[in-house]
Amino acid sequence: MVDGSRCISYFTIELKDQLIPDKMKGQFEGWMFGCDICQDVCPWNRFSKPHNDIDFTPVPEVLNFSTKQWEEMTEEEFKRYSASRR
Ligand code: SF4
Repeated sequence: MVDGSRCISYFTIELKDQLIPDKMKGQFEGWMFGCDICQDVCPWNRFSKPHNDIDFTPVPEVLNFSTKQWEEMTEEEFKRYSASRR
């Protein structure tokens, strides 16, 4: 059973115009932008096929970022790194 009200992806991606509730702070085990462990363990995902969409491939520059670099990233930098690479 997945308790969506405690979902890390919800709080770090979907919750746009609100702050993360204090009771959830420190509960994310280092996850900063989603989690998706449920996707890794979901038995239905054994039917999934690898994609070939460049926009879903990791941005090489950020793969080795430290927690400090993520915490200090500006919104402009985030937009630059997450911009479409088509
Ligand atoms: S595993 Fe991660 S993404 Fe999936 S429901 Fe739990 S917190 Fe959310």
